[in-house]
Amino acid sequence: MNYVSTRGRSPAVTASQAIIRGIAPDGGLYVPETIPAVDMGFISRLGQMDYRHRAAEVLRLYLEEFSSEELEQIAADSYGGNFDSAAVAPLHRLDGDTAYLELWHGPTSAFKDMALQIMPRLLTSSLRKNGEQRTVSILVATSGDTGKAALEGFKDVPGTRIMVFYPRDGVSQVQKLQMATQEGRNVNVVAVDGNFDDAQTGVKRIFADRGFARTLDERGYFLSSANSINWGRLVPQVAYYFSAYCDGVNAGMVKPGEPLDFCVPTGNFGNILAGWFAKRMGLPVGRLICASNDNHVLTDFIATGVYDKNRPFHLTSSPSMDILVSSNLERLLYCLSGDPQRVGTFMDRLAAQGRYDVGPSLLAAVGAEFAGGFCEDAAAGEEIGLLWREHGYLTDTHTAVASRVLRRIREREGARRPTVVVSTASPFKFGAAVLRAIGAPTDETGPALVDILSAATGVAAPAPLAGLGNKKVRFDRWVPVADMEKAVSEFLA
Ligand SMILES: *Cc1c(COP(=O)(O)O)cnc(C)c1O
Repeated sequence: MNYVSTRGRSPAVTASQAIIRGIAPDGGLYVPETIPAVDMGFISRLGQMDYRHRAAEVLRLYLEEFSSEELEQIAADSYGGNFDSAAVAPLHRLDGDTAYLELWHGPTSAFKDMALQIMPRLLTSSLRKNGEQRTVSILVATSGDTGKAALEGFKDVPGTRIMVFYPRDGVSQVQKLQMATQEGRNVNVVAVDGNFDDAQTGVKRIFADRGFARTLDERGYFLSSANSINWGRLVPQVAYYFSAYCDGVNAGMVKPGEPLDFCVPTGNFGNILAGWFAKRMGLPVGRLICASNDNHVLTDFIATGVYDKNRPFHLTSSPSMDILVSSNLERLLYCLSGDPQRVGTFMDRLAAQGRYDVGPSLLAAVGAEFAGGFCEDAAAGEEIGLLWREHGYLTDTHTAVASRVLRRIREREGARRPTVVVSTASPFKFGAAVLRAIGAPTDETGPALVDILSAATGVAAPAPLAGLGNKKVRFDRWVPVADMEKAVSEFLA
């Protein structure tokens, strides 16, 4: 199976080449030429397997150059003792027709681990398959969570190095500590004296510097990125939709073949798009509910067919959803329209005017599979309090957005369909907001919040977060934006 660009102006490539390149030369994103189909027999066989084997089976359908043995090994290495749940992605049943798919049992307590624990292994194997001898050096500019998850994913992976830049005053104390205490022989973390945009622009400039690339090449290195538009990050996420459906059937939430809805807290549209691929493959997914916070570009898009990023940007307590350009939507528009020319036009308009209109037929196609809704910051806080008081279940700020959106849809429709709320972060990552929401506000900041939340609720914190205050700081360097390239050069000396 080959991969094509959503903009249709560059040649088809193999899966391993798509993973190595990340983005297509024409600026488009890689999508599989055809979406593999499965039947209920496949799904019921998965139901008997553990998460690692479920993941390997799903990946096999998309990554034909990888043998079954190799994928099983990769899945076993990626989803093992580094997760604090043997189920890897357990389904927490709240009531008869609602469950929370907990995707945050990995090393950084956020759902990005589901992809970033496995993507480095897919990447190094892809490099071998294509005869690459040099060491791949991942550069990341992060506003918080992605940097830490990428560091954990690439930590001590042979044939790789990783360097993360974060804005000196633009991440939370816990996020800063998580990165500053990072372990591993091939990692480096540097603060930048600027905001996230400065760090991101600095990294882009380094990628575009041909002379620097030649220098690194002579030293046996080349630069690459690990961002969320890479197919190698999207495809592992398809697996947990299958896994959740199997667990839902095994728990009696739905009968085999009956539809199960998913409600997903959405930012860049990667997570929910993986759910759409699962549905297209034949998984009985009912509808996919796209939940947004106060930055509800996607809710408006699903309602009107107009994508418009010209609007105020809101900082919320669900920062990983504070996004105005959801890059992965491009993949959906391509798959639904089959028309790369049109997709290219939409993206050109987005770049030039900040908006595009997909028209009535494509809007109808989107509406047939997605519902949209958003929830204000205050309502998400109320949702955390409500779930805690009524069910003794603690959720983070992002998951709460989805949970509240689902609650409103059910109230409006006066009906309850069996639904999985996708839970994307541990509540301990957002301790201050969660403590406020359950009526136990505090002035404390930083890693102390982890213990305070644990004491207030009796819920145990994930070990990596609980131990954060005692870990040795390894990286405390900061550089001006102008010196970022020099820092990379020193790291890759
Ligand atoms: C990244 C992230 C999201 C958004 O996921 P997308 O794939 O970008 O839609 C939601 N919640 C948390 C906690 C995240 O880290």
